[in-house]
Amino acid sequence: MVEYLAEQIDVAVIGGGHAGCEAALAAARLGCRTVLFSVQLDAIANLPCNPSIGGTAKGHLVREIDALGGEMGKVADKTLLQSRILNRGKGPAVYSLRAQIDRKAYQREMKHRLELQENLTVKQGEIIEIRLKEGKIASVMTELGAIYEAKAVVLATGTFLAGRIIIGDYSRSGGPDGFFPANELSACLKRLGVQILRFKTGTPARINRRSVDFSQLEVQEGDETITPFSFETDEPLKNTEVCHLTYTNEKTHQVIRDNLHRSPLYSGVIEGVGPRYCPSIEDKVVRFAEKERHQVFIEPMGGDTEELYVQGMSSSLPEDVQIKMLRTMAGLEKVEMMRTAYAIEYDCIDSTQLKPSLEFKEIPGLFGAGQFNGSSGYEEAAAQGLMAGINAAHYIQGKEAVVLDRSTAYIGVLIDDLVTKGTPEPYRMMTARAEYRLLLRQDNADLRLTELGHQIGLISDARYQTFLDKKAEINREVERLEALIFPPSEAVLAVLNQAGSTPITTGIRASELLRRPEISYALLEPIDPDRPQLAPAVAEQVEITVKYQGYIERQMRQAEQFLKLENRKIPDGIDYEHLHGLRLEARQKLAKIRPRSVGQASRISGVSPADITVLLIYLKSTKGGSDHGQEA
Ligand SMILES: Cc1cc2nc3c(=O)[nH]c(=O)nc-3n(C[C@H](O)[C@H](O)[C@H](O)COP(=O)(O)OP(=O)(O)OC[C@H]3O[C@@H](n4cnc5c(N)ncnc54)[C@H](O)[C@@H]3O)c2cc1C
Repeated sequence: MVEYLAEQIDVAVIGGGHAGCEAALAAARLGCRTVLFSVQLDAIANLPCNPSIGGTAKGHLVREIDALGGEMGKVADKTLLQSRILNRGKGPAVYSLRAQIDRKAYQREMKHRLELQENLTVKQGEIIEIRLKEGKIASVMTELGAIYEAKAVVLATGTFLAGRIIIGDYSRSGGPDGFFPANELSACLKRLGVQILRFKTGTPARINRRSVDFSQLEVQEGDETITPFSFETDEPLKNTEVCHLTYTNEKTHQVIRDNLHRSPLYSGVIEGVGPRYCPSIEDKVVRFAEKERHQVFIEPMGGDTEELYVQGMSSSLPEDVQIKMLRTMAGLEKVEMMRTAYAIEYDCIDSTQLKPSLEFKEIPGLFGAGQFNGSSGYEEAAAQGLMAGINAAHYIQGKEAVVLDRSTAYIGVLIDDLVTKGTPEPYRMMTARAEYRLLLRQDNADLRLTELGHQIGLISDARYQTFLDKKAEINREVERLEALIFPPSEAVLAVLNQAGSTPITTGIRASELLRRPEISYALLEPIDPDRPQLAPAVAEQVEITVKYQGYIERQMRQAEQFLKLENRKIPDGIDYEHLHGLRLEARQKLAKIRPRSVGQASRISGVSPADITVLLIYLKSTKGGSDHGQEA
């Protein structure tokens, strides 16, 4: 192969998946000459698993990506088939948007936005080598010998790196959905000293709509009024499809139990570690043997296809077993399987090799994002891609890296968990992972992050002004409700009676009434003639801010405590080996992770509170470290 210099660029993004797309758009929009590489361009923004965006905690990530100026939310709003807010029965901290997405339309839309983006070139090609000069990133090379000299590289290779498809006793080298794998790069990364792990994930079969007896299935409708993912989406969105619900049963479980000996998961053919929170059906039948049935959602994959996704039946059992198990379920007795379920093993990295900026500690200019970092999920990937793209640009432009802390964003929780604790299996975001859930709601992602998105340069001035107007409207209405006194009039008592709420005998602040669980902002409208016309998103903010004020203030105080240690910076060059007060395990762990703050150090497993005290005393005595917020 003859090598030739193809181009000198700023940022090379290896991967056109959800991470690569966000990284490339961010770097290009921040003025970097960027090239995005994908083994095949038709794999760009592919949804190889569930044709949906969002879900519990994942919806939060999508909104945060949007609030910072990322793309996923806008493309999802444009290509959704159905949308619902999950967990409505619980508190606003766990309300989560989830949308069924037209898979092909999503890909087309995202790819087109990449192609239209200034400063960005989309290129089909497999990167087989990354080269350094004086230990820093210098260039990447394609399988055709094209050399791209680059100042920074973002690795977002997903499930393609040394990908292996496994179905029963059949396996072959391959990426998802029949795309080519990327088999060369892992060896190069190992030569550069990068530690590689082997993970696995799986997906269910796809079936033909005409072969399903829907009369036996429960229908699941979308929300009447759709809440968009993007704070920029202002046209009303509508559902065009429904989902359906069926269940496995004892016959299904028996087919699986009878064939466990043929499962690559249980025969040891699969070596990669799979996601605990997205288990295969065979795993569910074994681990939850007491359960009589498991929910199975039949989900549309697009407006112009008969393919349906069998959510909850991910598997790597042999094809004949898969058909047999599907046909035991109500409505699927005559089902036609269009695509067989499969497992895929792939290479990824131990994410503790990364700084909170997602740059490799040992290779300046090299960044990692997405499934490559050990996470699982489109949303987790896109969130990391956005941050890696921003920080690759800042690295080149000599600016501070942007790091979101755990009290500011789920993105902060995601990245901190990965780089501080690492993950022994594909990491999926969950609301339970966030300490400050009530502050990190999906509804206020813009209030938490749009200011920063504008400072970074990914949020336009026009959008920023709209955001400021919204914020001012919210504050004005909250203040108005604090000042508004309702008298014990007949009309007020009627409203309270209607809600089964305790009557009043003296005047009461509107805000105080709104804090009663049975009282909603909408309910007070008839007795509040001066109420301004507010957009639903503003009214929602007003209601939550007033109703949960006490809880929110308490959590804010907890977050302030957290930030004290988070902003207690540790100098880069600290020598833990000679910090004798520390226990051996702590010295080793601290030297490996090299935390940037005392807060991060306190989250490393094996570092005890006593070790943190030693560290704080040392920092005090050497006047080491500093009290700073928000920088790497
Ligand atoms: C079978 C399967 C099942 C899954 N199940 C789940 C699940 O149950 N739950 C869940 O949350 N997520 C699941 N996922 C994961 C989800 O698809 C990924 O999390 C998400 O797509 C990751 O996005 P990414 O950008 O990191 O990588 P990907 O979307 O995988 O994209 C990687 C990109 O990198 C490119 N690429 C790779 N190597 C090179 C190279 N050397 N040179 C050039 N281009 C390269 C590829 O062409 C592709 O464009 C599943 C994925 C698969 C494949």
